[in-house]
Amino acid sequence: SADQSLIIGAMEYKEKRVKDVMTSLEQCFMLDKSMRLNFQAMLAVYKSGFTRIPVYSGDKQNIEGILYAKDLILIDPDDEVEIGAVLSFRGRNVFHISEDVTLDKVFKVFMTSANHLLIAHRGSFDENASQSEIAAGEVTGLITLEDVIEQLIQAE
Ligand code: ATP
Ligand code: ATP
Repeated sequence: SADQSLIIGAMEYKEKRVKDVMTSLEQCFMLDKSMRLNFQAMLAVYKSGFTRIPVYSGDKQNIEGILYAKDLILIDPDDEVEIGAVLSFRGRNVFHISEDVTLDKVFKVFMTSANHLLIAHRGSFDENASQSEIAAGEVTGLITLEDVIEQLIQAE
């Protein structure tokens, strides 16, 4: 029943880690900050269907911000604004997490940070590791609140 799967989900998700449920780097829809938001680019964002889009500089290992699809509402594609300009105007912080962290801890991060996407990095860190220490590890993917809730409610 639904009740049973909630209980099982709540017990089992503590054993799972970010890397078990994240979207791997190869599958991530990301954009380079030098890209211009012309019609083609806006169409690509729209077609991706994603709300949160990591933005990198030159290399996907070098993530500098998160573009929110809703921040594009007032942008005129004819202006061909650079993504970097949108980020500096409507800056959204990037949050980082080790891919080894268990999902119960990730859930707490989501609940306390009012942020629903974390960039996953290789490497184990102690509880007090700073965001910049974690961010120094190789980027391996991203995880959203949805990925954690799916495990919690045992959705497939
Ligand atoms: P929302 O539901 O808030 O509009 P969304 O549909 O863009 O957001 P989520 O619902 O948070 O995204 O996540 C759905 C799935 O898509 C998850 O598995 C998540 O890891 C993945 N995902 C989210 N953003 C991206 C992205 N930019 N590139 C690739 N996969 C992503
Ligand atoms: P997202 O976080 O996926 O971008 P959102 O911020 O628009 O979505 P939610 O996070 O789903 O909205 O909800 C936040 C709060 O805002 C909830 O209390 C919800 O009831 C309320 N809310 C959502 N949409 C509207 C709306 N169109 N008008 C008024 N309140 C809304």
